[in-house]
Amino acid sequence: MRVLIVEDEPDVARHIARVLTAAGFLPEISGDGESAQFLSDTEDFGAVILDLGLPRLDGLSVLRSWREAGKTMPVIALTARGSWRDRVEGINIGADDYISKPFEAEELVARLRAVLRRSAGHASPEIIVGNLRLDTRTMQVTIDGVPAKLSPLEYRAASYLLHHRGQIVGFRELYEHVYGAGESFSNTLETLIGRVRKRLGPSLIETRKGAGYYVPDKPA
Ligand code: CA
Repeated sequence: MRVLIVEDEPDVARHIARVLTAAGFLPEISGDGESAQFLSDTEDFGAVILDLGLPRLDGLSVLRSWREAGKTMPVIALTARGSWRDRVEGINIGADDYISKPFEAEELVARLRAVLRRSAGHASPEIIVGNLRLDTRTMQVTIDGVPAKLSPLEYRAASYLLHHRGQIVGFRELYEHVYGAGESFSNTLETLIGRVRKRLGPSLIETRKGAGYYVPDKPA
């Protein structure tokens, strides 16, 4: 899943990007409010980590414009320590959660996973489809309790589809959330899904011709 990091301190941004990559996400960095606004107008992100103290356009203004435009992606606000007014205003404007600097990377990842679950309408950290179980905390997929070995790209694709089970996920949408935007769309995705099917079973992911992929919302 693509996650936009809006942070003007390059070291902090790169650190978050490394942590998110290790947690199976596809991060992109934007260094100021204006370019974040531009990026989100032209590209699709599954979630945003938004620093509130930004050059050019501050984080609260960016967030307000997103929510006014009807954008609903989960947003975690990064606030300076002790600035409770920012946190309150951020949440009033539509941040889904906040985290104060300095923070532990693990906490940010845990909060990100939690807001993604809530935005998908699931409270549990585990996604269960039939005999398959995805634990978003450990990034582990098991089938009948047996761990399935997935490469990072395979996990990213499977995780995105499982988070959007019961919905058709467009080919391009999935491609962008696995590989990032700006790359040419090709049969790479088909090959990747073929590998995921090999590992997770041939019937989990359905192909909807001309539309995308579909994982049925099937309780255990
Ligand atoms: Ca800042």
